[in-house]
Amino acid sequence: MSYQVPRGTQDVLPQEISKWHRLEELIRQFCYVYNYEEIRTPIFEHTNVFKRGNDSSDMVNKEMYTFQLENSATSLTLRPEGTAGVVRAFVEHKLYGQPDLPLKMYYCGPQFRHERPQKGRMRIFNQFGVEVLGAKDPLLDVETIALGWSFVSALGLSDLKVLINTLGDDASRNAYREALRAHFKDEIGSMCADCQRRYEQNPLRILDCKIDRERAIMKSAPKMSDYLNDESKAYFQAVLDGLDALGIPYEIDDRLVRGLDYYTHTVFEVVSVNKEMGAQSTVFAGGRYDGLVEYFGGPQGMSGIGWALGLERLLLACEAEGIDLGEESGLDAYVLCLAPQAKTAALQLVTQLRSSGYRCDMDYLGRSFKAQFKSVERKHARTAIFLGDKELESGEVTIKEIDTQKQHTVPLNDIVAVMDRLFDETQEAEGGCTCGHVHE
Ligand code: ATP
Ligand code: MG
Repeated sequence: MSYQVPRGTQDVLPQEISKWHRLEELIRQFCYVYNYEEIRTPIFEHTNVFKRGNDSSDMVNKEMYTFQLENSATSLTLRPEGTAGVVRAFVEHKLYGQPDLPLKMYYCGPQFRHERPQKGRMRIFNQFGVEVLGAKDPLLDVETIALGWSFVSALGLSDLKVLINTLGDDASRNAYREALRAHFKDEIGSMCADCQRRYEQNPLRILDCKIDRERAIMKSAPKMSDYLNDESKAYFQAVLDGLDALGIPYEIDDRLVRGLDYYTHTVFEVVSVNKEMGAQSTVFAGGRYDGLVEYFGGPQGMSGIGWALGLERLLLACEAEGIDLGEESGLDAYVLCLAPQAKTAALQLVTQLRSSGYRCDMDYLGRSFKAQFKSVERKHARTAIFLGDKELESGEVTIKEIDTQKQHTVPLNDIVAVMDRLFDETQEAEGGCTCGHVHE
């Protein structure tokens, strides 16, 4: 019998983790300068946080991991997305009462969707997302897009483009829905089962269908832009003007409706046009939502804007563009333990170095000198420290600088001071050694 990760999930192994750390650190830096604060909500919520009313999205209807424990009437769901939990928390803790709205938040963590796994589409995937709640200003739509855009640009990604559209306000959208129903009325019977459901629940989402996408009836569908009232048009224009002002390039895509039901006004996707990305090319996506705060019991008319970025997809996009997210850095010192009875002294030595902030390690396998020295190379250690019988007796160890091959014989008690000097020197300039110890 063999054990494997469940389909659609993956292990991130130690040798790959530095990429994740790099992304996560950069995300936090960007959020810091944009003044967004982290929020952490539970990984599962009551099912009704995600399944709201007559929601037509696939995610809510088909993809949720929902469970109920024995003897419990409570239905829980592993979060498939971040927005609902954040808005629930915003209302539950009455954060809308804060004096300094909008509240600008970000989150980072796993999401769960029972999808058909393929490249860039997992059942557990990690999202970084932002949500700005409590103010409705087209320039906030612009700011959130700018945050994501500057983050992906800082990574060096350039095969990306912003697709943007507006779904207008409720009145515009209702008029458009009726127009879509009229348009699809005669053909809906021959369309996919999902589209038939969408026709009833939210015909807008028919435009998001991946099966019927190429049909003529799709291409001749009425456009949202013809159903926008003046207010909705003005809002959208202000968003576009703001993007222009910040020099963020975009394309208007009047078919863009997004997968979730709660969007109003601005919707956007940032997609990679790199050929290697295949069908899963959307790196981050989101939009404005006017009704969610009220849905969760908060004040009426309090709006939000947010987007979510798939970190696995971002890594794929970096790979596709040949962007190296950086190798893991090496050790500062590796202690070679040359006699069994030197092991405790070696552990004391690495402990002392570690408490001074040096990243170091030692041999625990009792290996030969040669094998231990291989570790020095593999771990890219800057120095090797030799500790055996002779050193125990004399109370002195030898430090070898790997780059220059220089060796220093140093009393055990001075080791931190010598390391400080060596590391200072290499930082300053390459030059003669001034450590004051005997050189071999
Ligand atoms: P798609 O059309 O690709 O299914 P979506 O509309 O379901 O996307 P959102 O719910 O808006 O996507 O999620 C935002 C981002 O999260 C996506 O743009 C993508 O980068 C990432 N994402 C969504 N679903 C998955 C998944 N199953 N695996 C990996 N990343 C995902
Ligand atoms: Mg999806």
